[in-house]
Formats: sequence, structure tokens, C-alpha cells
Amino acid sequence: MRRQDLSRRDWMRFIGTGVAAGVTIQMAADGFLGTDSTVKADFVQKTSAKKGEYIDGHSAAPCRRVAGEVIRPERAIPNLHETDVLVVGGGPAGCCAAIAAARGGAKVTLVERYGYFGGLATGGLVLIILGHWTLNQRGEKEQVVQGIGEEMMQRLEKLPHGIVDRQIGRNPTIDAEVYKYLLVEMITESKIDVFLHSWALDAIMDDERTVCGAVIQTKMGPQAILAKQVIDTTGDGDLFASAGASFDQRLYHIGLPHRLGNLDRVTPPAGTKPPRFLGDKTPIPGACWVNMSGPDADGLDVKTLSQLELNHRKQIWKQVQEIRNTPGYEEVYLMETAPQLGVRITRVLEGVATLTMEGAKTGRQFDDCVGVGGAWNGDHRGWQLPYGALLPVKIDNLLTAGRSISGEPLMSELLRVIPNCWMSGHAAGCAAAVAVKNGTTARDVNLDEVRAMLRGQNAFLDVPK
Ligand SMILES: Cc1cc2nc3c(=O)[nH]c(=O)nc-3n(C[C@H](O)[C@H](O)[C@H](O)COP(=O)(O)OP(=O)(O)OC[C@H]3O[C@@H](n4cnc5c(N)ncnc54)[C@H](O)[C@@H]3O)c2cc1C
Repeated sequence: MRRQDLSRRDWMRFIGTGVAAGVTIQMAADGFLGTDSTVKADFVQKTSAKKGEYIDGHSAAPCRRVAGEVIRPERAIPNLHETDVLVVGGGPAGCCAAIAAARGGAKVTLVERYGYFGGLATGGLVLIILGHWTLNQRGEKEQVVQGIGEEMMQRLEKLPHGIVDRQIGRNPTIDAEVYKYLLVEMITESKIDVFLHSWALDAIMDDERTVCGAVIQTKMGPQAILAKQVIDTTGDGDLFASAGASFDQRLYHIGLPHRLGNLDRVTPPAGTKPPRFLGDKTPIPGACWVNMSGPDADGLDVKTLSQLELNHRKQIWKQVQEIRNTPGYEEVYLMETAPQLGVRITRVLEGVATLTMEGAKTGRQFDDCVGVGGAWNGDHRGWQLPYGALLPVKIDNLLTAGRSISGEPLMSELLRVIPNCWMSGHAAGCAAAVAVKNGTTARDVNLDEVRAMLRGQNAFLDVPK
């Protein structure tokens, strides 16, 4: 039976019930995959179609223009998949959250809009790992971000060209391709269900406050994933905004990092002033990465994002020509520009707790501490992460982690660096796993069990001495 053969009333009868706003309905219609059609990393769905055969597919439900307004019709959305913990966004925070929840015993699903993991740390070519160490009371350098983040750095060290400068008190640099590979390895070995090329559109709610999944936009059309707990690690709070959580929306620098090659073939005549924008060394010999600050702008505005891509690419091209026009630097070339624009901060959750820089610098302590973060360059002591910074004020069964957690603007500068995103992702993943295991909401989760699970996964939770 095809939807287009049915009247609207027949269709509603066929699917069994009315479609209330925000509620997905299990569809029996032809053309969609069954409920458990996840692409596990080592499993590729085969269709029965012969070469060139037409696969009868999706019923069309185009938008309509009515009196000058474009209306999206009410329609049932297929339930693609069900899971315990749904993590939306496969950046540093999302990967740590997914791995932590899976190691904590939950069935985990990770959704990512692009075809690879790592977020800004791979697709954004942000390669320097800042903020995982600090000064303890004795004035010694001490690494505070441990757990899955530390495991990632240890594993990068074992892979060729994975990471350089890994010593306490220094900020190491990673290679984006090696990190992409490592994340595939770690996600696969944790048996996490993966949906790539899937852009989360909307939260799915059971009622006004309770999240129970997300609708993703795919080439198969919109699909629903139902979950007991959802973690928004999109960096931009796409899910918590859709669920109705309150948040701050901020403008911040948007740049476009890139890499240069052949810096090991530079032969400047004596006395040549080195050109600008040469960047810093990476694990690949002769390759440097060049960061870009960029203007303060709205990272959610599609017109702004489009214009910045155009401007930044012209700017980088100009910079590289300037380098190549410098005597001795003729062989330097533009290896790659980041496939993802460098959007640093957009939506920041209004959490049950909000972190401040003053609190971080003065060692403020929290009863609901679920992590310890470091300083940019070890210029102050470690700071505690309260669970409340991941938890929306009024929405249930939804956590956030990474650059969108609750912090005042100055503190977000510190919360957003990669190791601190690993750390908050780790905490959110363990909390979601414990909530699922005990059948509680994320708000009522047993924090002693969360901390025990985090310690069991080698996270560092103690007040820095
Ligand atoms: C230019 C620049 C320079 C920086 N320099 C440094 C530095 O030197 N050192 C440092 O440690 N940090 C640095 N940072 C900060 C750091 O890179 C990021 O803050 C960090 O990567 C954030 O991690 P995250 O997991 O919270 O978010 P992200 O890395 O942004 O990951 C979010 C993921 O979610 C996916 N996603 C987004 N929306 C959706 C959706 N709707 N559906 C599905 N998937 C979605 C994205 O594709 C991405 O994979 C820099 C950032 C920028 C932009």
C-alpha cells in the first residue's frame, strides 16, 4: 500500500492514530527500512535490488505555498531506530559521551551530520590540544583531564604521525586524519550504532518537558530515533533549542584554519624576514597548521556562514601567495582548508548551574562535581564541573556537553577547548548510562553512581591539591 494511493482520512486510519505535533508513529508503509536498520560499522545493508533496478521508495510530502507562506505538511515520520542513549553530534564531546555511555553498559547511538567524527578537532582543523593541565597548589604542572580524553592521546601516540609535543606542561598537536581513524576504531570497538550523514532537525518530546528522541534529516527523508536519554553535543545546542530549553545566543569569532605544506623545503637567503601566517608545526613533517581568529559573527545565520566561507577562502589564498612570494618560500603550498567553518560559540545552555571564570580561578567546589577541567596554559588551578552545567533548567532526559554547556562568556572560552569538551562529554555519557540503568530521569540520576562509573573509567574527579 502506498501513501499516495490513500486519501488523508484513510491514511490516518492506516497508521492507526492521529499525528499529534512532535509525536512520531511507527510506520508500516512500504519503502522504508525496518526499525533496526542501523549501519553498524562492519555491516552494510544490502538491498535486494538488481543492478539498475528501481527501488520503490518514499512517498512525497512536499511543502505547499499557501497565501504566500510556505507550510510544511503534518506527516508521519518513520521510526528508524530505538536506543538507550542517543548522542547527537560526533565531535570531541559527543565521541567521549558515546564511548562512556557504551562502556557504562547502555545501548548507544551516535548521530553525526558529516561522514566522519571529531567535529572541529578534525573537520575544523583545530589541532592544538589546550587546557588539559593546570598548576597544583605546590606550583607543579598537573594533568587534570584524564579518562577517555587521556586514553585518546595515549592511543594517538601509538599511531604514526598521531600527536607531537605530548609532555606535561606542553600543548600537544594532533593530526586530523589520524584522529578521525582513531575515533572510528574507538566507536566501533564500543559497539556504538552509528548514523552518519544525518542532520538532527528536531527533538521528539513525550510531553512538554520530556525528550524521547530526535528526528534526523537524511537522504531517505526525515527519520525518527527514539531514546531513553538524549545528549546534545552538536556544539550549537540544536537539540536543546528545539526541545524548548532556555539558552544564551552569542556572537563570537568565526575563522577558517588551514594547513600549509613544504615548510621543510624553505631555503631563505640570510637576512630574509619570515613571512606572516606560517602557523605551527604538526605531526606531519613539513606541514603546519594556521589558526584564524575571524570576526565576531552569528554562527547560526546561514547567510553569514556563507559569506564568511567566501571571504576566508580569499583571505587564505592571499596569505599563501604572500608566503610564496617571499624568497626561499616559493615551494610552500596550501595543503587544505578546513572542510568545516570554525564556529566557536553559538547557543549556550542556561543550565541548573552556570560556571564563572572567577569561580574557576578561586577553586569553587560543587556537591554535584562530575569532572575537573584545566586552564588554557596552566595559568590557574583546576576547576570543578558541576553536573548542573550539563542539565537544562526545565527539560528532562536531555543533557548537553562540549562547547554549549552552561557558562558565562569568559568561562565559555575555557569550557570550549578540546580537553574540557572530552571531560564534559565523558561526564554526560556516564550520567546518561546510569539514568538508563536505574530507570530515572537525567535530573534525578544517582550522582554517587555516576562518579563511581567515571572513576572506573579513569576520570579525575578530585579537588586539585
Ligand atoms: C578556529 C578555532 C580555533 C580553535 N582553537 C582551539 C585550540 O587551539 N585548542 C583547543 O583545544 N580548542 C580550540 N578550539 C575549540 C575547539 O575546537 C571546540 O570548541 C571543540 O572542538 C568543541 O567540541 P564539541 O564536541 O563541543 O563541538 P564540535 O567540535 O563543534 O562538534 C560538534 C559535532 O556535532 C555535529 N553536528 C552539529 N550539528 C549537528 C546536527 N544538527 N545534527 C548532527 N550533527 C551535528 C558537527 O558536525 C560536529 O561533528 C578552536 C575552535 C575554533 C573554531
